[in-house]
Amino acid sequence: MTRDERRVSAWVGIGSNLDDPEYQVRRAFVALAELPDTELRVQSPLYRTAPMGPQDQPDYINAVAELDTGLEADALLAQLQAIEKRAGRLRETRWGPRVLDLDLLTYGRECISRPGLKVPHPGIGERNFVLLPLLSVAPDLEIPGLGPVRQLAAGIDREGVERLE
Ligand code: ATP
Ligand code: CA
Ligand code: CA
Repeated sequence: MTRDERRVSAWVGIGSNLDDPEYQVRRAFVALAELPDTELRVQSPLYRTAPMGPQDQPDYINAVAELDTGLEADALLAQLQAIEKRAGRLRETRWGPRVLDLDLLTYGRECISRPGLKVPHPGIGERNFVLLPLLSVAPDLEIPGLGPVRQLAAGIDREGVERLE
């Protein structure tokens, strides 16, 4: 690695509620570890969570992962979408059931807002299925514009979120 090569810590939210969700999430960790110019730094425990939005769908398995990457944010998002597609994700109703959802939660300390890419990912501050996995592995992580995970998680409702062993 050259000295001026830019490496960024990026956090990814992982979710699945179809086709053996636990397996899908574990396989997503492997796929993230295999991304070009990227290392998988941290993987959180898995959580079983009640669905957001339409309630007539199975529970989710959620987790988060930290990547150390040389990819630009757009390129990283494209890679995440390619992993979703390979897992068999189809276009579906908003917040409806899916084989795999990979959200770019943070990209270093950057705030990005353009069509197709918003970072930090909107909703982090209210979503217990994102904050509780983050709290377990990165309580001191600062979400740009929002504050540290520990503080955001302190006020969150834990209902419907169960940590798996
Ligand atoms: P939510 O974004 O509320 O969690 P979702 O994950 O179900 O909902 P998707 O259908 O997966 O939404 O994504 C819709 C679009 O969101 C994608 O086409 C993508 O371009 C856009 N998007 C914007 N910012 C991000 C981000 N930080 N991570 C992932 N997708 C993003
Ligand atoms: Ca999502
Ligand atoms: Ca998504």
